[in-house]
Amino acid sequence: MNLCESCNSADAKIVLSLEPISMHLCTNCYNELMAKDLDLKLGQLPETFSLKDYQRITRIFHVERRIDPLGIYMEASELIEFGYKFAVHGELGCDQQELLTKLIDKTRKGISKQQVKTEVFPNGQIYNSIIDDQITGMIEYDETSEDTPLVIIDGKPFTWEEVGKILMSYEGFQIKFKMFDMTDDIEK
Ligand SMILES: [Zn+2]
Repeated sequence: MNLCESCNSADAKIVLSLEPISMHLCTNCYNELMAKDLDLKLGQLPETFSLKDYQRITRIFHVERRIDPLGIYMEASELIEFGYKFAVHGELGCDQQELLTKLIDKTRKGISKQQVKTEVFPNGQIYNSIIDDQITGMIEYDETSEDTPLVIIDGKPFTWEEVGKILMSYEGFQIKFKMFDMTDDIEK
């Protein structure tokens, strides 16, 4: 863990390069610096919020905001590894509470529908299947596999091999892969 060079305490996740120097900063110090530089007011945000998923299970999301010269990036990520993650982007002068509401709405929508279900063959073998002939997910790094990614679907990690197995029931179908930025809206 890198310590923030400004407050010396929190986890420094951001490297700010202002030639010729670069600084390791925590998100808070980075945002304060950017806000000052851009003459922007940082509104109060909750650290977390929780919502119920498609199974009525409570999911807790950590809220993070990052100011950049082009706007405000806001992200809600679950407090577990490989969980759900959602993000929105707003203009610099936007209402940050409205942006938060947008983020919460996007999160609510994103966790409200199950996409992959686990079923059991008569012989007892367990398999996964796609519920509505489409899946949306998030591509993540797989520590255990150098050549293939993990795909996060329904707030759970699937290995590339598992995704392949799910697709096997679609032999003979066409497939379309399209990539979206985290802040884009994908219709489910
Ligand atoms: Zn700091």
